[in-house]
Amino acid sequence: MSNDKGLSQRHTDRMIRKKAVVDAAIDRATEQRGLLLVLTGNGKGKSSSAFGMAARALGHGMKVAVFQFIKGKGDTGEQTFFQRQSEIHWEQCGEGFTWETQSRERDIAAARAGWDKARLALADDSVGLVILDEMTYLFKYGYLPLEEVLPVLAARPAHQHVVITGRAAPPALLEAADTVSEIADVKHAFRAGIAAQPGIDL
Ligand code: ATP
Ligand code: MG
Repeated sequence: MSNDKGLSQRHTDRMIRKKAVVDAAIDRATEQRGLLLVLTGNGKGKSSSAFGMAARALGHGMKVAVFQFIKGKGDTGEQTFFQRQSEIHWEQCGEGFTWETQSRERDIAAARAGWDKARLALADDSVGLVILDEMTYLFKYGYLPLEEVLPVLAARPAHQHVVITGRAAPPALLEAADTVSEIADVKHAFRAGIAAQPGIDL
């Protein structure tokens, strides 16, 4: 019994110390500005995390613009849902590019056309959040030079947040970002032969 009490007291003491550290860190974080986030890695959860932030931003009355650089098969649940919202602009960039197009020239043209539209959102200070979904593949395949994108990101409105998703994000993009998460692929149901599930994968 007294042992339990000791354990409980030690827990309380630890939590008091932890709270002091967390509160001090919160007090220090006073800067307000638009962030660049990169969600990368081979695990599942990059795009769906970005769309979670779209929901948050809309909830705060912000305007959101989404550019998808890879066209999926058919409409996804998120596209159907978000297109019902009035404050979101959702752009499927041209044909996008997949292993199905198999035409580098067409892929480059689609990437370029998508980027030209995305740049407009990145210059529009009424847009609070811009999501550039699967954009990293443009850099990976050499469809769009990162050197052309970084200055546009740097010149965006000061309060505007940007989220870039996709595997294999280049080091210079990670360097430019404020927040980077790399999602590890620990396990994926697909490899156990389970098809993409509505509500989970699309
Ligand atoms: P999500 O859109 O579900 O957040 P993601 O953006 O992290 O996934 P992508 O590489 O864009 O991942 O892949 C999109 C699709 O591929 C989703 O249906 C997702 O479940 C699936 N997927 C993601 N990671 C893996 C993986 N490691 N193995 C197999 N399928 C995967
Ligand atoms: Mg994705």
